[in-house]
Amino acid sequence: MNTPRKPRRNRRRSESPTSPTSAIREREEILKSIAEFAAEKERRSRMTPEEKTAENGLRLRRRLESEPALTVLLQPTPPGYMARARCRADYCSFAEEAGKLSIEIKDEYRIVLGTQPREYFHVSCLEKMLDLPSHAPTRFRLDTDCYRWNQDWPWTWGLMLRKWFEHGGCINLGPIAGYIKVHKRYEKEDGDYDTAWIEWHLAHQRKCNGDEEVCKCPPPPEAPAEPFLQDYQTKKSDVCPLSEVLRHGYVERLASAIQVDGLLNPGFSLVNPEREQER
Ligand SMILES: [Zn+2]
Ligand SMILES: [Zn+2]
Repeated sequence: MNTPRKPRRNRRRSESPTSPTSAIREREEILKSIAEFAAEKERRSRMTPEEKTAENGLRLRRRLESEPALTVLLQPTPPGYMARARCRADYCSFAEEAGKLSIEIKDEYRIVLGTQPREYFHVSCLEKMLDLPSHAPTRFRLDTDCYRWNQDWPWTWGLMLRKWFEHGGCINLGPIAGYIKVHKRYEKEDGDYDTAWIEWHLAHQRKCNGDEEVCKCPPPPEAPAEPFLQDYQTKKSDVCPLSEVLRHGYVERLASAIQVDGLLNPGFSLVNPEREQER
């Protein structure tokens, strides 16, 4: 009767120059790392989602401390097919809700870590891991890069977000919303004033030939007073969560405007429409 032959290993062994002791040591190393991995997996499986999130946050904070060049950016999610980035949060609440391991970020805004490759997060997922206001505006910033999907222009950020980043979240949205409303009325009044002034000037030219001496015209229209943004900063302890700003109906209002330097000069600058009371 034929017994199955043992596979021959002699040739392989003779090709490998490793001594039996180093092969054993190598095997022990592998077994050790498998055991460590299993222990770590077991340890993590016993943690609540909150504990996991806290631990992930701690790791991220340490990484930010040890890598001074690493930036965290808020950016608009590109439209349509380009919005393919998946949230890298270990405990993504959106993925969990959808019953998946990870999920594409479909929110209007997302957060990107300047790692290689870049890592993307839902704002609310990263907000649970990291105290975002305390990192603004030094490490956590608004993305001002130019994007092809935006016709190679940078994203122009609304007043609320610009102020949130400037003051590390210490803002009160109420007075800013009030200012935005007043400013809208002012823009309308200012437009009306421009029209009225041109009409007044043309009539003055026609009737009085522009001569101030003989002028019998009614007094020229008065320019409306420009409102000031004020009383919106809060104490250090009174921080507005970023997701609250992003949910506000006015989040994109009073965005900065792109001012092109000139036809022959390819540069541009960003002009902010608001005026703030000097303090
Ligand atoms: Zn997420
Ligand atoms: Zn006149």
